[in-house]
Amino acid sequence: MKTIGLLGGMSWESTAHYYQAINTGVKQALGGLHSAEIVLYSVDFAPIEKLQARGDWSATAELLVDAARRIQRAGADFLLICTNTMHKVAPAIELAISIPLLHIADATAEALADDGIKTVGLLGTAFTMEHPFYRGRLADRYGLEVIVPEKNDRQIVHDIIFDELCRGKLLGASRKHYLRIVDQLAAAGAEAVILGCTEIGMLIKPEDTSVKLYDTTAIHAAKAVSYALENR
Ligand code: GLU
Repeated sequence: MKTIGLLGGMSWESTAHYYQAINTGVKQALGGLHSAEIVLYSVDFAPIEKLQARGDWSATAELLVDAARRIQRAGADFLLICTNTMHKVAPAIELAISIPLLHIADATAEALADDGIKTVGLLGTAFTMEHPFYRGRLADRYGLEVIVPEKNDRQIVHDIIFDELCRGKLLGASRKHYLRIVDQLAAAGAEAVILGCTEIGMLIKPEDTSVKLYDTTAIHAAKAVSYALENR
């Protein structure tokens, strides 16, 4: 089995779900007392969030490059960045390490393609919904048509992520906002909705809506398990 490198802590609330999902996946595949071989480096999210808000992405890249190098030195065979947003600096991280990076948008696009989905809604931080690094990758590499909420709703989705979900707060009123926005994306033509922030799956679940949800945490973790167990 390959050793899985996790660059986590953004936020730790969702990294805990990665850890659980990956170990559950390996247990299901191998049985008995098997569990995943993991190197986890978990950063302090507060300074990173401040740099994001200021738009200082090169400073965030420096911090994450340093963390990724530590993960590689500790023996990981490949790397996952456990946040959609910070894939904005994935190119800098890929350049700094020699182990492969399993990109969260690629794993998600592959899952959508397997199900024949062509038009998809996207929920995530404002950075993920608005900057080209994520939706552009889905469109350019996979031919997906990506629909995002209108401006006011993007702000609501973004604020709930940072003010609540990343702090472990799950509120009914926020769940209602998210489900309303999911319905609007479906009404605008989305065949499914990407939960493109690793904390959203804590708030809304497939059983909460008839719209098909693609939870990037679950998809990314499952991809890590299959890659770790490939050719063994
Ligand atoms: N975990 C989140 C994501 O998947 C947001 C936190 C961050 O800004 O990294 O985008």
